[in-house]
Amino acid sequence: MPHSDHQSALVLFSGGQDSSACLAWALERFERVETIGFDYGQRHAIELTLRAGLRAAFSELKPLWAKRLGEDHCLDLKALGAISQTSLTTDIAFKMQEDGLPNTFVPGRNLIFLTFAAAIAYRRGIRHIVTGVCETDYSGYPDCRDDTIKALQVALGLGMERRFVLHTPLMWIDKAQTWALTQELGGEKLVEIIRDQSHSCYLGARDVHDWGHGCGTCPACALRADGFSRWRTTQK
Ligand code: ZN
Repeated sequence: MPHSDHQSALVLFSGGQDSSACLAWALERFERVETIGFDYGQRHAIELTLRAGLRAAFSELKPLWAKRLGEDHCLDLKALGAISQTSLTTDIAFKMQEDGLPNTFVPGRNLIFLTFAAAIAYRRGIRHIVTGVCETDYSGYPDCRDDTIKALQVALGLGMERRFVLHTPLMWIDKAQTWALTQELGGEKLVEIIRDQSHSCYLGARDVHDWGHGCGTCPACALRADGFSRWRTTQK
């Protein structure tokens, strides 16, 4: 198989809490770290506008991270939003569907994101791809499951004749533990940066709370608020 670089990584970086924690995780481990974001017509496209500020804040926090942080890629995948009838991409209310999945589920989203990420990684000679998917306290999305990611790693390796490693540092930890990991990686300062500058809310709201910004009631806000308060409780 053609050589790809062991020292560099590509992080799927949406501007949300999880992918921000993953970016910090990668910056600690790899000598060169590039980021990729996707515009798929999400209602909370505001998350994309926060990415540059987060990258700048990370660089300011640690000189080593500034040295390691490389290029940012932003891909237009609006076709995905156009073919998806979900409350994440159209203005309909959040609800559970008959199949037991929330209607925020965008079919194929992570498969498509990781495939495009691998295509960029291929071009850039990058072996390691990092994503913030998690099946601990998640929304039940089947493409966040460990088995899905492992299967995709095999498929991408075969389909591109290139060895990719898909890293999922958050797979087996919950949202409270993600905050603990954040503090471990960059101290209270990194917690503040991610709390204040990352975005999780499905509605794109930026109301101020002690756990960050959001509407406070959508499923993403509920998960984020609960994780933050559980983590803060373990601190006392
Ligand atoms: Zn919200």
